Amino acid sequence: MIDCLIVGGGIIGLSAAYELVRRGATVRIIDDQRSQRTASWAAAGILPPPISRATHDAMEQLRDMSHELYPGWCERLQQESGIDVQFARSGGIYVARRVGETASLAAALQQWQVDGVELHEINIDWIQEHEPALNTSPPFRSAYLLPDESTVCPPKLLSALQQCLQDSGVQIDRDVRLHGWNRHQSRVESVATSCGTISTGHICVATGPWSHETLFDLEIDLPVEPRRGQMLMWEFDEPIIHRVINEGLRYLVPRPDGKLLAGSTVEDVGFDDQVTEAGLAELTQFANGLIPALEEHPPTQSWTGLRPFSRDGFPYLGRLPNYENVLVATGHFRSGIHLAPATAQVISDLLAGMPIECDLQAFAPTRT
Ligand SMILES: Cc1cc2nc3c(=O)[nH]c(=O)nc-3n(C[C@H](O)[C@H](O)[C@H](O)COP(=O)(O)OP(=O)(O)OC[C@H]3O[C@@H](n4cnc5c(N)ncnc54)[C@H](O)[C@@H]3O)c2cc1C
Repeated sequence: MIDCLIVGGGIIGLSAAYELVRRGATVRIIDDQRSQRTASWAAAGILPPPISRATHDAMEQLRDMSHELYPGWCERLQQESGIDVQFARSGGIYVARRVGETASLAAALQQWQVDGVELHEINIDWIQEHEPALNTSPPFRSAYLLPDESTVCPPKLLSALQQCLQDSGVQIDRDVRLHGWNRHQSRVESVATSCGTISTGHICVATGPWSHETLFDLEIDLPVEPRRGQMLMWEFDEPIIHRVINEGLRYLVPRPDGKLLAGSTVEDVGFDDQVTEAGLAELTQFANGLIPALEEHPPTQSWTGLRPFSRDGFPYLGRLPNYENVLVATGHFRSGIHLAPATAQVISDLLAGMPIECDLQAFAPTRT
């Protein structure tokens, strides 16, 4: 019998599996490939900068853990898999062109200053010298550089994790769906799946926006819902910008191979994962406004992903109270790529009965 069955092969499930295997556990993963593109594939891969003050806030602790883990995690994945995951401390520029965005940026600035995030106000000369593709006419109302913002390429990260797991002999079953739980008292002894019954010591549910449905039969009403995000991509021979450009909820992300991503929408449309004309038009207008040269280049690809949204913005991490061998790792909403290594560590520590580095109460699956 395996030590842990991971249900869901997105970034959260794969990262948990990778960490468990590193610690000597036997693991199997099932994934039903429910959507054309999962959130994990669709994501932009922005990793926000760390805060430098000590914090008792559970979410900040989880973010800090991930931030600490990220460079070493990527390096190891890269070495073991041979896949360049494109982790880079590229820096992020935050700009505001309109009154509303200027006010939100001022509020963000205040919080960054309290948190001790490294930042520098930048002027038009700096922008013209370092990011000449950006439209500075009319000039931005305000602009800041956060040098510690980083990026990673989510599809490459997924490929690297899959490669490492396969090389370690982990069975990854695709097109296999969990649809039933075989319980005995306070334990789940096996699960029913589309490829038969699987017996396991533990189960980790990492089914993203489908987690409510996955857990419903275990008498837990986990309020995780899908939130669609649309993305647009252009391709150039080399990068036309060098840092992430953020404005309000929208951003532009450069990749080292010349790809440029624009994102994203946040839409409450259930499990509809289609791109829309309106969504893409909005992203095109946003991107063209920042980089006029894009008007001459039509985008080459667009896609969506369904983020696992939780109502309080915190993920759900921990054991289910009524079933001691079922763990949940879901609801990461807009931060799943960033929080993946910390989540993997928490899940592995929980399974090993080790102390947890952050306050798990805040992430309890039973919180209201
Ligand atoms: C457009 C967009 C941009 C984003 N940008 C960023 C970013 O810049 N930085 C960041 O940190 N985060 C970002 N995110 C958020 C991040 O992508 C998500 O938080 C993260 O991918 C969630 O991962 P997951 O593994 O929980 O879920 P998913 O990726 O949804 O994976 C869940 C998997 O479970 C499988 N599954 C579901 N039900 C079952 C079942 N019953 N049996 C078997 N398998 C099942 C599904 O098929 C799926 O493969 C972005 C998301 C989107 C959509």
